[in-house]
Amino acid sequence: MQGQMMHRPLQIIDMLRYAAQAFGQEGIVSARVEGDLHRQSYVQTLARTAKLAHALTRLGVARGDRVATLAWNGYRHLELYYGVAGMGAVCHTINPRLSHEQLLYIIHHAGDRLLFLDLTFVPLLEALLPDLPEGLRLVILTDRAHMPETRFEALCYEELLAGEPDDFPWPELPEDTASGLCYTSGTTGNPKGALYSHRSTVLHALQVPLCQTASFRAGRRVLPVVPLFHVNAWGLPYTAPLSGMTLVMPGPNLDGPSLFRLMEGEEVFSAWGVPTVWAGLLAEIEAQGRVPRGFADLVVGGSAAPRVMIEAYEAHGVNVSQAWGMTEMSPIGTHGTLPPRYDHASPEERIAAKCCAGRRAFGVEFKVVGDDGRPQPHDGEAVGELYVRGNSVISGYFKNEEATRAAFDDEGWFGTGDVVSVDAEGRLVIRDRAKDLVKSGGEWISSIDLENAALSHPGIAACAVVAMPHPKWDERPVLVAVAAGDARPTLAEIRDHMAEHFAQWQLPDDLIWVEDLPLTATGKVSKLTIRERMAGYVLPELRGDRGDSA
Ligand code: AMP
Repeated sequence: MQGQMMHRPLQIIDMLRYAAQAFGQEGIVSARVEGDLHRQSYVQTLARTAKLAHALTRLGVARGDRVATLAWNGYRHLELYYGVAGMGAVCHTINPRLSHEQLLYIIHHAGDRLLFLDLTFVPLLEALLPDLPEGLRLVILTDRAHMPETRFEALCYEELLAGEPDDFPWPELPEDTASGLCYTSGTTGNPKGALYSHRSTVLHALQVPLCQTASFRAGRRVLPVVPLFHVNAWGLPYTAPLSGMTLVMPGPNLDGPSLFRLMEGEEVFSAWGVPTVWAGLLAEIEAQGRVPRGFADLVVGGSAAPRVMIEAYEAHGVNVSQAWGMTEMSPIGTHGTLPPRYDHASPEERIAAKCCAGRRAFGVEFKVVGDDGRPQPHDGEAVGELYVRGNSVISGYFKNEEATRAAFDDEGWFGTGDVVSVDAEGRLVIRDRAKDLVKSGGEWISSIDLENAALSHPGIAACAVVAMPHPKWDERPVLVAVAAGDARPTLAEIRDHMAEHFAQWQLPDDLIWVEDLPLTATGKVSKLTIRERMAGYVLPELRGDRGDSA
């Protein structure tokens, strides 16, 4: 028997419409690239989003078209999130930290029709210019007074909006309509696209505040340091308006002192981002001997939060939560709320309970698969690769059948590449990483791509890239190599040789020469053994030199 209930499509624009109605006084504070602080309410944001949708229509954007962004966290970027999706097109957020090669691949693969960029990224666009797709129109996210001289033809965002009506007949879209596109780096080869839908995005936005309860309070302020160009800023562009919180957008300045100033001035209650950023803020907190006024809640994810970081923030009275997730999961899969039985636990017990990757969020199912391919018990002991299933998990990669085939098991579960254990309460502990990637400052570097590029140098016969711990960046890549002859190229030479294919920050920090590489039983390079052999190793920057160890 069917239920007799209405079926209204879940739509992204409805979250902003709701915020404008229910929380009209709340809105967005943005540290702008132009250098000032800008404020607007959700009512104004909805009106400007309507103007944007009119302008996009005038520019010929149709349903399903991809509209790209290269922008920091700010109100104009948020308007694109809602305006593009609201009219039925797809908001494609691009990560400017990727190499030129990867950026060009992504823009071509997505088939972007328009690209909106912050002033900061004009030089980047100029570098990409010769290889951009023909017909890609460019819009700079600023007003006429700040429009720069450029080597490309560009429209001005504020001019586009000016004169357009501040109301838009938002279409009723089927809820499975594509709304957003975000590429994530693969273990090897080109980045892969996660194509979100209105339904997946709204369900994710409803689920997160339900479990991450400490962070969401109407009338409070939340700071997404996690970028809108990477993993949808963990859903905050949706969850904040939906729960009546004002978004404080940091723009490009993410160093400790800048964040401290912004948080203090705006009385930020909750802040979200990767450990690298919180290490910088912690240094400033310790220098000042206090936290920014009003700051009480920190959500850390993207990489494991070190125990000392959790302890330090908690000692300053800030509640720390760890969350785990993936671009492919919209992205949140766990939350950091402790079960009620911890309410009266000692600080040590609470901290120990926080030193894991969080507990399973509603809407995401976990399956731990052992080496033998069998599901493992959720007993906190058994280890295996984590597979996930849920309404906000991708069902395939955008126009990439090969990557899709590799990512799912026969029952349709998505393989995360994280090696984990899960206990009976859904607590997730990340034990290892099956995917051969280095995570530096919350961004990925493919070990395999680095190895292939290094191997194309005639001085290297065999090599492996391993992740080594770094207090600020979490991990940095180190190249372990066997020389092809007597002449050993320097690290600088190898980096120059590889530079064409990578962003500077992706290149290895050190080069270690070895006689041979250890192999596994199946003849693969054993990175586990290399890492074991490198126990106690210290990166060049930390020991005060420039690399090239013997
Ligand atoms: P991304 O798609 O870039 O967000 O990367 C997702 C991956 O980041 C996960 O599969 C994990 O390997 C890693 N990750 C995310 N959150 C955490 C966390 N709290 N602890 C450890 N690793 C994490």
